[in-house]
Order: sequence, then structure tokens, then C-alpha cells
Amino acid sequence: MEELVVSIFFCSVLMACIGLLAYSERCSSCGSLMYHFYNNKKANLAIGEAYHACKRCGAKEVKGTVDCSGYVVWSNGNEGDFSKDGEYYRKRHHGRDGGGSAGDGGGYAGDGGGSAGDGGF
Ligand SMILES: [Zn+2]
Repeated sequence: MEELVVSIFFCSVLMACIGLLAYSERCSSCGSLMYHFYNNKKANLAIGEAYHACKRCGAKEVKGTVDCSGYVVWSNGNEGDFSKDGEYYRKRHHGRDGGGSAGDGGGYAGDGGGSAGDGGF
């Protein structure tokens, strides 16, 4: 019986944490709590701004900076790459110290790669 109480306690703590996180990052426009978990990532490479766009109302919020090659650094420290038109986003993983896998010369997010293209996945 005690185990049940403990697990219920942890469950509610977890739920509270998630709720708080969602609440603190809710959409400033429509108040959607799902905004934190489900948002579209967009970028405007011309002005160097990266956005989270609300899936419900479409409101955009600047959440990071992007350079002209599509490389984005979010305000929370995450990195990623946008396609040239700012439509497609994918997260960049850390750990590029030694390897050349994400380096300049690689075709990782380059023009020629089909991986970030239309039928991507
Ligand atoms: Zn919204």
C-alpha cells in the first residue's frame, strides 16, 4: 500500500513539473499549453531570427538566432540547422570536437543532400 502512495506522489510531482513547464512556456498569444511541446520551428535567415511558431494560432516568438547558412542557436543553448528557406529544421547534436562529421566541408546540411528535402523522412 505504501508503494502505491509513493508512486502516486511521484506521479503528481512529475505532472506538476510538466504542467509548470508547459504553463511557463505557453503561447503568449492564444495561451495554448501545448506550445512548449508542439511548436513549429521557423527561421528568417535574412534577418537572422529563429522562431517557435504556435501550431494552434500561428503566433511566432523569437527564440534564437540563425546565421545565413541556416545554423541556429536557440536561447536554451540547443543548436540546429535550417534549410535555406527556413522551413525545415533539424536538431544538431553536440560532440563534434574531433570528428569532421558536421564540419564545413561535409555534406551534412548542404545543398546537395536530399536528407532535408521534400520527402525527408
Ligand atoms: Zn498560440
